[in-house]
Amino acid sequence: MDETETPAAPYCGRFAPSPTGPLHAGSLLSAICSYLEARRHTGRWLVRIDDIDPPRQLPGASDAILRSLDAHGLQPDAAVTFQSSRREQHLAALAELQAEGHLFDCGCSRSDLRAHGRPGPNGPLYPGTCRNGLPPGRQPRTLRLRVNQESDSFDDQFQGPIRTCLAETIGDFIVRRTDGLPSYHLAAAVDDGAGDISHVVRGHDLLWCTPPQRLIQRHLGLTSPLYAHLPVLVDTRGYKLSKQQGAAPLDDRQPGENLWLALQRLQQSPPADLRRASVDTLWQWAKTHWQPERLRGLARVTETDGPA
Ligand SMILES: [Zn+2]
Repeated sequence: MDETETPAAPYCGRFAPSPTGPLHAGSLLSAICSYLEARRHTGRWLVRIDDIDPPRQLPGASDAILRSLDAHGLQPDAAVTFQSSRREQHLAALAELQAEGHLFDCGCSRSDLRAHGRPGPNGPLYPGTCRNGLPPGRQPRTLRLRVNQESDSFDDQFQGPIRTCLAETIGDFIVRRTDGLPSYHLAAAVDDGAGDISHVVRGHDLLWCTPPQRLIQRHLGLTSPLYAHLPVLVDTRGYKLSKQQGAAPLDDRQPGENLWLALQRLQQSPPADLRRASVDTLWQWAKTHWQPERLRGLARVTETDGPA
């Protein structure tokens, strides 16, 4: 890795759930993994609620997530932050990108994209329709960031070296949505690059979000954190556990059992007799036995990886 990429700051990790529903077994893996990595580096661990998508949010979900983290012994090292409180910074970043000529108005709808964009890991690639000006009769809907022949390469702690040409895998991507809100890429890039966060540990489903977010950080002169994408938890049919798919919320009355299962799914093989142990005992074991290298190259783990 390029030396200049290594953040000089002390280790600071984060867990950044969206309040679209309560924590489930899949999101617990990300929470635990990011927490244990921060502890292994005697660093700090922060919690940021990524509440920038009001239409998808569920009332009370933020509180439920925080209660659940607390029940599982996951206490952040600073006050919880809310991405919605950083709207000004997000808008300032958009203005800066706009002023530097990186953005263009796009009048395409999702169905236009589905019809004309070739498939990519984050959805259809933008076919370039409005790149050189809106076609006659089109109204601007979103702001897109122009991707030229930029390539990106970074060493993912779990997934190894990632090298990609952004025009081929990502294409021009949305930074301001139809409803005027900053996109996930924009907000995550700005908040992860703002200075505090040195390491982002998150699910493999977000792996291809990293090149566009790193591109935004480069354009804004922000320091990119280092990234580690852990395997996502899938059900026996191979589908990722998600709030949208109706994954069952964690049962906060049995945090020890949940932690044990999560450690099992994270390939740590916790001793069977710890299955009924207290949260404190499990954390004690996990902190001394944590072997992140066991996650190397894994994109997914299945629910059955924990014995029933
Ligand atoms: Zn367009």
